[in-house]
Amino acid sequence: MTDPPLTTNAIAYAWERLWDVAGAEKLNLPRIYGSASSSLTEPGVIVVPAPANAWTDLLNSPPHSLDWLPAEALFPPGYPRPFDDRLPILFWSDADRTKPPIWVREDGTVIFHIDLIAATLFMLTRWEEIVRPERDEHARFPASASTAFRQGFLDQPIVDRYAMILRAWLQKLRPNWKPRVRSFRLRLSHDIDHLQRFETASLALRQAARDLLRSGSPAAALNDVYDFLYGRWRFSRNPFLTALEMFARQAESLGARAVFYVLAGASTPFDPGYDPTNPTFVQRLQRLRSAGHVIGLHPSYAAFLDENRYRAEKKRLETILQHDVHHARQHYLRFRAPDTWRIAQRAGVSEDATLGYPDHEGFRCGASHPFPVFDIQADQRLSLIEHPLHIMDGTLKEYRRLTPDESRRRMELLARRVAEVEGELHLLWHNHAVTGAWSPWFEAYSRFLSEIVL
Ligand SMILES: [Zn+2]
Repeated sequence: MTDPPLTTNAIAYAWERLWDVAGAEKLNLPRIYGSASSSLTEPGVIVVPAPANAWTDLLNSPPHSLDWLPAEALFPPGYPRPFDDRLPILFWSDADRTKPPIWVREDGTVIFHIDLIAATLFMLTRWEEIVRPERDEHARFPASASTAFRQGFLDQPIVDRYAMILRAWLQKLRPNWKPRVRSFRLRLSHDIDHLQRFETASLALRQAARDLLRSGSPAAALNDVYDFLYGRWRFSRNPFLTALEMFARQAESLGARAVFYVLAGASTPFDPGYDPTNPTFVQRLQRLRSAGHVIGLHPSYAAFLDENRYRAEKKRLETILQHDVHHARQHYLRFRAPDTWRIAQRAGVSEDATLGYPDHEGFRCGASHPFPVFDIQADQRLSLIEHPLHIMDGTLKEYRRLTPDESRRRMELLARRVAEVEGELHLLWHNHAVTGAWSPWFEAYSRFLSEIVL
């Protein structure tokens, strides 16, 4: 394994990302990725690069072996710090370690001995997912294999935090400059995997038999049959469908808009294959869209590596809805870097929302802000925005087995971390996860939303 070359393109992209999150897009001053003794026309910023093989070394470093610094060692003295906990240093610069991590040269230039450029590229491009072999039973890169998890910073939007530190030093450089400040935003999103509890009579009967024979619960078995019949005769009022309106109202009460992702592929063992042409369902989607919500594609299980399938499903959904679809998130969050991004872009999707780990909440890309994707293998920027996903219902209840209270506390912690960096907190709640065994978790989620201060 060798480190990817940090080309002019890649470096320019990383600067731009940091500058954007820092709210500094209108600030013009020299910035150099190079030696601490580089000469500048006027005082600016120098980030000194990490040594060769630093990326590979990071992947090979044992768990919990990074240096962590207190926030006060990273912000200028006296600066009103947006956060105060310790931060990991992903890449030290290949330079004099006797200097402080960030210092000011005689001419006023700020020198970073922490390689912010490498850290930004490492986190946003998902290079480690390209080179590391670990996969789960659905061919997904697991959180447990990631550097962020192994080094203990998956719950930090590390790229955004570095950008906020950069902002502080830019303000020291230009005391009269005022950064553009963003307010905290919520992105509420919903994958529609099912339109009712049982799509077919045989599924309902099989479940009823299991409940009766294996669990010895006639009440549960009766309930299965009831749910199936209710879904058939009162389809429009079954809880999986009414959940859509409920999600829309939740978003509206927060001044936000929700995004709904719809499956349009065939039925397989991993795809429920409901009928997306169902007139009641289509009508609901149209109503949601006219209220300002977004309808996107939920590409099926195999589509993450199958461009023809991806395109066909997108075309089908567009035909059903009679409008173009620009948003997508993969079913099962299946994703391979950079292939799935390339497929999405070529199919005409401009906003993807897949990049969260199924097995752990947190910041897979080290980011809370949406970002344009950089394809590090092709060394080019894609015309695709990634909205990194931070928390999914199934992660809390199924993978992490957190109680509803613990789940709410995790949502609150991540929300606070996102607010500190003026980012966008991205949540995924399925429409099938609002009743039955899911109720306590849905209540925790609803309570979290109702108590959030925007
Ligand atoms: Zn799904």
